[in-house]
Amino acid sequence: MELIHFYALKIDEGLTDRAFKKICYITSMNSLKTIQKHIQFLSGFQPVCYDCGCSSCVCYTGPYEILTKCPKCASDHYKTDGKTPCSYLEYLPIIPRLRAMVANSSYARKMQYCSKHIRNPRKITNIFNGTHCLLLWETCVKIGDEELPEWFFSDP
Ligand SMILES: [Zn+2]
Repeated sequence: MELIHFYALKIDEGLTDRAFKKICYITSMNSLKTIQKHIQFLSGFQPVCYDCGCSSCVCYTGPYEILTKCPKCASDHYKTDGKTPCSYLEYLPIIPRLRAMVANSSYARKMQYCSKHIRNPRKITNIFNGTHCLLLWETCVKIGDEELPEWFFSDP
């Protein structure tokens, strides 16, 4: 719990990694990497790593996966060894996060916001009043060629 509280301080106060590492050193606390690994283990989430450019212009996935140079700034995809990416993007997959949120009653209630939102067609107060969302409210979900009997956002 001490590690979690300590790491929460970093997140809540927006401390940089550099500042946090100094605090770890001063307080003889575990290293930032050790704390992050421990919290990752406790969370049960496994991040997925994608190659990323040095300037973070693109994530080398999908159509960019085979590129050796950034299509925006022409920087190299890999370091001089030709196989180590310049940088990584750590992504927490959405499905496990949604499962965890649905399993938590407090978050599950918050996630029902969309279904409880009172729409005002004359005033855009959030994304659910946008024209695309309003169109989806009246559109059946279609997977491939099959049209399902539900429309978007029909399940609260
Ligand atoms: Zn770039």
